[in-house]
Amino acid sequence: MSTNTPSSQPVGKVYLVGAGPGDPGLLTLRGKFLLERAEVVVYDYLASRKLLRHVQESAELIYVGKKGGGLHAYTQEAINSMLVEHGRAGKMVVRLKGGDPFIFGRGAEEIEELVAAGIPFEVVPGVTSATAAATYAGIPITHRHYTASVAFITGHEDPAKKESNIRWDKLATGAGTIIIFMGIKNLPIITGKLMEHGRDPKTPVAVVRWASTPEQRSVDGTLDTITDIVREAGIKPPALIVVGEVVKLRKTIDWFEKRPLFGRRIIVTRTREQASELVALLEEQGADCLEYSTINIEPMEDNTELDREIKDLGSFDWLLFTSLNAVTYFFKRVRESGLDSRSLAGPRIAVVGRATGDELLKYGIRADLMPEKFTGEGLGEALLAQGVGGSRILLPRALAARDVLPDMLTRGGAEVRVVAVYRNVPVKGRKEELREELEEKKIDMVTFTSSSTVINFLTMVDAGSEEELHRLMNGVDIATIGPITSKTVEEYGLRVAVQPDRYTIPDMVRAIVDHYNRAGRKK
Ligand code: SAH
Repeated sequence: MSTNTPSSQPVGKVYLVGAGPGDPGLLTLRGKFLLERAEVVVYDYLASRKLLRHVQESAELIYVGKKGGGLHAYTQEAINSMLVEHGRAGKMVVRLKGGDPFIFGRGAEEIEELVAAGIPFEVVPGVTSATAAATYAGIPITHRHYTASVAFITGHEDPAKKESNIRWDKLATGAGTIIIFMGIKNLPIITGKLMEHGRDPKTPVAVVRWASTPEQRSVDGTLDTITDIVREAGIKPPALIVVGEVVKLRKTIDWFEKRPLFGRRIIVTRTREQASELVALLEEQGADCLEYSTINIEPMEDNTELDREIKDLGSFDWLLFTSLNAVTYFFKRVRESGLDSRSLAGPRIAVVGRATGDELLKYGIRADLMPEKFTGEGLGEALLAQGVGGSRILLPRALAARDVLPDMLTRGGAEVRVVAVYRNVPVKGRKEELREELEEKKIDMVTFTSSSTVINFLTMVDAGSEEELHRLMNGVDIATIGPITSKTVEEYGLRVAVQPDRYTIPDMVRAIVDHYNRAGRKK
């Protein structure tokens, strides 16, 4: 788009981007691309906060939240002029709006101001809550046997007012499926209007709140019962109302709220780098994950010793990797030394478990040995079974780690060289938030994937006494990845509810699902 700004100042551009209904995975690729490049992001109540993870750290974030009927942090006029102002200043601005920007989102009003001011703009559609809420409640909004038309209606307008923009007489029987935005407050009036104008009182209706998020709640009934059902269930905005025969299909199609961990709030304590796999697998099963990073992995400052061993790799009989991070940081140093995987051709290589072995494969190397039991002891036993007397063994690992494995091997007659390749640094912060979640008994489960995550989590909880800790953790299930982590948990007098037979993340998630399947669905 061309502009005729007389000044020589660079003119920015404003992108109205649909944020989707709530699940951050429902943002478009175009939206993500723009968020990653934005200098200013203006977002509101309905746009998922989780989308901000795509934004670069230097970007300015402006919350202009609007809560239906409640406090308006900014007036529409203020938002409009804010967009113009940043556009004029030459900024790349993303205006993130819930659902689709042009469906009951006042997107056009913002654009009109930009046009008037000569600021270039673009609009990126989003997944509207109209379709998402229905879909996530198990309702296809069309179906050739039930309906051939859909209407999107605002329920915000006072239906009692004389000059309504909505022709309820035509709408009531004119559209097969009727989807009503912002209609919770006026629900009795809306259902009344539809019945008054000839829609069958037995027409199925569903109401869906916070669709596609872990807080989703949905109820259904019929035009003449839904008002009471919604009141009894205490369903508040933001919610969408779906009216029509298609709502019947929900019985068969409902899927989102049926996932095994739906409604379960699970704390994941892992290192910042590694939380993603566990979180992804738990979310896949419907869990609401709260990530608390308790440790950061950092490279060593002084690598002299490691560099010496890397140059001398050929003199070792075994090279052992007991964690994924050890592989990552070891190879980082190999690269930095101007070498590559071929320098590992000499020693035989052993890994502690599957994840470490998979990481090693990324460097084109298949481990010669992986124990049955994925622990340091398991690896020690497997090596001893091979006979290690007289052999030279290199163990690159974390600065602070248990000495069980090197001790076992030394006792078996090996010469073991232990070198630190990375260190675990505890992360501070978000303590209040964590305490509040525990105080308010909002947490179903805490997961631990190593002893250090246990220790750091408990440091963050900072309970004054054992009784205090037990009070906070009362009702919270604890899941660990394996026996060593469990032992650490038990040392604090806490009980482990879930521990998988095989010590991997996928097995841990399966064990958690089994646990809650036995316990029965929440809600
Ligand atoms: N542009 C948005 C709609 C904005 S109007 C879109 O395309 O979805 C705000 C109304 O949208 C809310 O009052 C509610 O009725 C509906 N809504 C938005 N997100 C929702 C969600 N996740 N679940 C249920 N309803 C939602």
